[in-house]
Amino acid sequence: MPLEIFSNSKKLILDTLFPINCLSCQKSNYWLCDDCWKKIATLSSQVCPYCEKNISTSGKICSYCRSQLIARNQPDFLDALIVATHYSKNNLARLIHIYKYNFITELASPLAKIMVTALLKNHLPLPDLIIPIPLHPRRLRWRGFNQAELLAKELKNTLLPGFPLILRNDLIIRKKYTSPQMKIKNYAQRKQNIKNIFFVPSKKNNPLQNKTILLVDDICTTGSTIMESAKILKQAGAKKVFGIVIARQEQ
Ligand SMILES: [Zn+2]
Ligand SMILES: [Zn+2]
Repeated sequence: MPLEIFSNSKKLILDTLFPINCLSCQKSNYWLCDDCWKKIATLSSQVCPYCEKNISTSGKICSYCRSQLIARNQPDFLDALIVATHYSKNNLARLIHIYKYNFITELASPLAKIMVTALLKNHLPLPDLIIPIPLHPRRLRWRGFNQAELLAKELKNTLLPGFPLILRNDLIIRKKYTSPQMKIKNYAQRKQNIKNIFFVPSKKNNPLQNKTILLVDDICTTGSTIMESAKILKQAGAKKVFGIVIARQEQ
């Protein structure tokens, strides 16, 4: 049997045994059909990533949190966090779950499109480097792909059409295997869970020095994973660190 016919019949058999339908309108053969993807709107406003309450321009730190940090003589590590869309609307939570736990990597492209729209809308500076939040090698082996890295690859190729940006997945390493943040309900425990789990390996001619970084993750909960990554990137010499996630999971 020619390969193409075999592969078509295999698809036919799979589609018959496990039909998929658009989660929103039930149209067949889509996890979400094009029309329903288009209905996913980006957030109309962003909040401060530190207090997660005050509305702020482009997800930057609010003046209240800035004054608190200054009073405590603490630097602000994360310059802004953009949350692209609502977690609980338009089947988004379900789509992200299918992407990560049913391993449907083709969802990276439409999900990243929502991130690109949100980034352009918020006028953040173009990054010198795009860095996905790393997985621990054990989880990477289990899943077979880093969901944040696939999104980052899409951003790298589509943020500035025709001019691919630079993606680096070797500048920040996850050294501790931790429980997924979403499984931990207590805020303080989440902060503790993520503390000191990353490190920046030393490289010749520090590639982070004076660079503007865009950190990419699929979802955030308290934002502590992105905050912790931003902290060590700044400590290693980065000039600005911005973050982008598809959505913030409600607690
Ligand atoms: Zn649909
Ligand atoms: Zn704030």
